[in-house]
Amino acid sequence: MILFEKAYNIVMDSAFFSGSEHIDIINSLNRVLAQDILSDMDMPPFDKSAVDGYACRKEDLNNELEIIEIISAGKAPEKTILKNQCSKIMTGAMMPKGADSAIMIEDTEIIDNKKIKYLKDKVKVNICYKGEDFKSGVIVLKKGTVIKPQHIAVLASVGCARPLVSKKIKVAIIPTGDELVEPKEKPTISQIRNSNAYLLLSNVEKISAIPNYVGIAKDSKESIFKMISKALSDNNDIILLTGGVSMGDYDYVPEIMKKLNIKILFDSIATQPGRPTVFGVRENQFIFGLPGNPVSSFVQFELLVKPLIYKMMGHNYKPLNIKLPMGIEYNRKRSTRKSWLPVYINEQGRIIPLDYHGSAHINAFTSADGLISIPIGETTLKKGEIVNVRQI
Ligand code: AMP
Ligand code: MG
Repeated sequence: MILFEKAYNIVMDSAFFSGSEHIDIINSLNRVLAQDILSDMDMPPFDKSAVDGYACRKEDLNNELEIIEIISAGKAPEKTILKNQCSKIMTGAMMPKGADSAIMIEDTEIIDNKKIKYLKDKVKVNICYKGEDFKSGVIVLKKGTVIKPQHIAVLASVGCARPLVSKKIKVAIIPTGDELVEPKEKPTISQIRNSNAYLLLSNVEKISAIPNYVGIAKDSKESIFKMISKALSDNNDIILLTGGVSMGDYDYVPEIMKKLNIKILFDSIATQPGRPTVFGVRENQFIFGLPGNPVSSFVQFELLVKPLIYKMMGHNYKPLNIKLPMGIEYNRKRSTRKSWLPVYINEQGRIIPLDYHGSAHINAFTSADGLISIPIGETTLKKGEIVNVRQI
């Protein structure tokens, strides 16, 4: 049994980069940028009005101002503002020469359709100045960024219509177990539905890798051999098996991995849940044997598989951790493993561990805001003690 931190380092040190490709901006959500993005222009590209109103000179605002032009967004102004003149201007339109402010239409009164009067005492400038957001040539987005809608807006604004992103990696999913039936089927008295495959498929999909569902392997050496062989020959980068890694009579996964020349780098981690997690490598392919219980699969995916997938796609995954006080005391009996607990944040901003019966109890995670960990050697988290909540 190795420490979680050691297992994490072994996994992360194995990673290699998936490569990159140019794709259309429209398909870039949640992909990882494989290049720094530079701005090709100042933003805003010209001094522009922040309001619908009148572009004018501050010093004239005690006087009536003659309207000399209407400047709509997208039009270049033709006239220069001189003493006691103004141009009607729309939000986002280019400021005319001579003007040093844009007064809001709501703060003016119109006289004879030709002139305006400013009704306020104070003057706000209301101009977005050229280059105030960013200047031409600067890095606006960094390589390794996971592209969210706000990043897409920046890509669009600097004209990057085909960003270079990391290639998606392929992740095969093989649940094992004679007791498993697919969700659409009604289990017999001794069967259960396969939830792990769908848990992992959606987790892989969520981080923009390609899930590849191979199907349920039976608890036989032949079936497990056949399914892993298929996943290996289909050029999957990572293969996720669930179940069949513990001490039961039919837990054949580690044995078959060895038979397939998969080098096992660890087969047991001092964590709870997830102790019998197996990790192996064969050339450029990685194989995880995750414990069968859904919570174990979920937590080990979060702790080990997700950071690996992201690293292979060029992103350094740093889960969001927030420090908050415990709302109640929590005790555990044994402290030989680092444990991870599902918790929620109550209305007072305090951490409450969820009612959790162990690693089969995936329902406890449906109302979880995050996970907290209890280090080896510690059994108690005191009320009020500050803990790290890892968002999931
Ligand atoms: P195992 O690791 O194969 O001993 O499985 C541990 C527990 O997880 C058993 O109670 C299994 O029935 C359950 N389990 C295994 N695979 C799945 C799965 N794909 N979906 C839901 N539960 C599973
Ligand atoms: Mg099993």
